[in-house]
Amino acid sequence: MSSSVVTRFAPSPTGFLHIGGGRTALFNWAYAKAQGGKMLLRIEDTDRERSTPEAVEAILDGLTWLGLDWDGEAVSQFARASRHREVAEILLAKGHAYRCYCTPEELQKMREKAEAEKRPVRYDGTWRDRDPALAPAGVKPAIRFRAPQEGETVVNDHVMGRVVFQNKELDDLIILRSDGNPTYNLSVVVDDHDMGVTHIIRGVDHLTNAARQIQIYRAMGWAVPEMAHLPLIHGPDGAKLSKRHGALGVEAYRAMGYLPAALRNYLARLGWSHGDDEIFSTDEMISWFGFDGLGKSPSRFDFVKLENLNGHYMRSTPDHELVQAFLGFLPHVAGGPELLARIDAPMRAKLTRAMPGLKERAKTLLDLMKSSHFLFASRPLVLDEKARQIMADGGVAALQALLPVLSGAEWNAQSLEAAVKSHAEATGTKLGKLAQPLRAVLTGTSTSPGIFDVLDVLGREESLNRIEDGLKLS
Ligand code: GLU
Repeated sequence: MSSSVVTRFAPSPTGFLHIGGGRTALFNWAYAKAQGGKMLLRIEDTDRERSTPEAVEAILDGLTWLGLDWDGEAVSQFARASRHREVAEILLAKGHAYRCYCTPEELQKMREKAEAEKRPVRYDGTWRDRDPALAPAGVKPAIRFRAPQEGETVVNDHVMGRVVFQNKELDDLIILRSDGNPTYNLSVVVDDHDMGVTHIIRGVDHLTNAARQIQIYRAMGWAVPEMAHLPLIHGPDGAKLSKRHGALGVEAYRAMGYLPAALRNYLARLGWSHGDDEIFSTDEMISWFGFDGLGKSPSRFDFVKLENLNGHYMRSTPDHELVQAFLGFLPHVAGGPELLARIDAPMRAKLTRAMPGLKERAKTLLDLMKSSHFLFASRPLVLDEKARQIMADGGVAALQALLPVLSGAEWNAQSLEAAVKSHAEATGTKLGKLAQPLRAVLTGTSTSPGIFDVLDVLGREESLNRIEDGLKLS
């Protein structure tokens, strides 16, 4: 299926791909995929101070990690400035724009006057109809758009509905600064037009810009793209999303150990729904995705929900894939690169074998890093406080009695379980009184996957050595 749908993701490279940007990208991507169209990428890098190559790289990395690809090369908005200037000149020639010779001081006065009169700050139209022959010498003019002053501009939005702006509220905005630099609303219109964008999907914070942009499209006689403005993402308490509540870069989610597929699923549900479905694959999302599923009200970012969803994805990911994801995650987390350097082929095999037990308990790859620590730990293990307590409370004696039983057992989870159980029965010991000290000396902690799996994965020699190390604690 191929169609003429063209969407675009147009981030400003301000350091990272934040989570709201990730959602915008996902929706543009899903819509393009759903329609058999294309998603283009435009880097809005006109702010030369903030738009560093590193910031651009961070966005591309974030998108790639999230599994979102784009068609063709990323377009640099800055590189297109001469085309933006050309369109400003066309608007000027058509009478849809004019030169404004107001000095910064005059504009400042205009602002102060409006503020004193408690009016919104707007350009007062000084040069709108003034004869350019009156232009003061030595002042470089800016070019302003001659916006319609009467009537209304309607944004027919796929999410927000019919949004009406009174034209008298929208002043004559600068499209080309006096230094020759184009401004945002002009650049976006020219780029979207030239790139053949048919559908604009972005945050609702751009709704007023949409009205201004529509006026520019009309002045140029260009078709206005379809628009869908997505509601904001709030924190769990309904307030503006703060860092604590998830307003972080996508790479922070990577470092927290979320799986891209889980994050895609979670982001999809921030503002879009398909019936009551909460868990769905990306392919399902694509096959269901459309504007009718987009909601108007702000959605709430909820870390607990994201964690639980991620846990679900972890459990349903095949072991070898999860190992792969884990190894890919390690370079992005503190202590990860050192650990990665130690994971050789036998260690990797161990990790894969331990995965069924480990993934049951891990909500994130970071959890997995902690809970798999025992596999990589070198002897003698450092016991945490709870583990030391278990050993002090009779653990040493219990293991002393158990050690010969284990030494004589066949080394697989089933036989080990049978041997420990019969020892428990024969000595009238509760199974927990054996399992807990075993866990303490084998993992250094009081929680772990099933203890017979732990024995099995660690292997005979390592297990018996760790137990003997533990007995020396007495
Ligand atoms: N560069 C703008 C932003 O990051 C988006 C512009 C647009 O989507 O039209 O907010």
